[in-house]
Amino acid sequence: MSADRLVIAIDGPSGSGKSSASRGVAKALGLAYLDTGAMYRAVACAFLDAGVEPSDEAGVIAATLGANLEISTDPDNQWVRVNGRDVTTAIREPEVSAKVSAVSTVAECRANLVSRQRAIIEAAPAGIVAEGRDITTVVAPDADVRLLLTADPEIRMARRQAELGDKVDAAQLADQVLRRDSDDSRLVNFTTAADGVTHLDGTYLTLPETIQAVLDLVAQARP
Ligand code: C5P
Repeated sequence: MSADRLVIAIDGPSGSGKSSASRGVAKALGLAYLDTGAMYRAVACAFLDAGVEPSDEAGVIAATLGANLEISTDPDNQWVRVNGRDVTTAIREPEVSAKVSAVSTVAECRANLVSRQRAIIEAAPAGIVAEGRDITTVVAPDADVRLLLTADPEIRMARRQAELGDKVDAAQLADQVLRRDSDDSRLVNFTTAADGVTHLDGTYLTLPETIQAVLDLVAQARP
């Protein structure tokens, strides 16, 4: 643990509340914030923009490796650009959620994004809260605080529904949460906490309670 920087790694499945909790923790501690899922989503926009089919693995790899990816680490002002296009809103579209696994299930794409994520984490002067699926295990296994945030599937689907409103029907919602969980777990384990990773079940916690639980862990790690 470095004395002057704090790195907090938070993993969890879709709809576990990890993005809102991570942003809240970053704001409370004056740290940067990295949404690694937004990077996978932005690369999905890049291959879709290029007219590459999700089944064209070589095309998806080329689009990933060649993507000019810029992402904000300001928890109060999140944006992401790929190949000069602002995709902050587009990355949340159901089509991107449906096709992002074409990036995240390919080892070459993961390796490329992991090295970009490590560079962003290292560049944050005061430290950072980084969240995703493999931050505690692959991207930043040496983080000062490592947390796996889970929640029951019914709660996660209800949260996604609340976020997306009537943009999605029941089938799309199940696809976004349950099918994506199962695709995402092909190369990464984010359902059980690895050694040294604290498991927090957020099913019955409000957002402020979840943020406080993470701040308590930070206080324990750095009394
Ligand atoms: O967190 P979010 O749902 O926005 O992530 C979008 C997708 O990016 C996930 O479904 C997963 O396929 C991928 N992802 C990943 N590893 C991460 C973060 C996200 O594979 N660290």
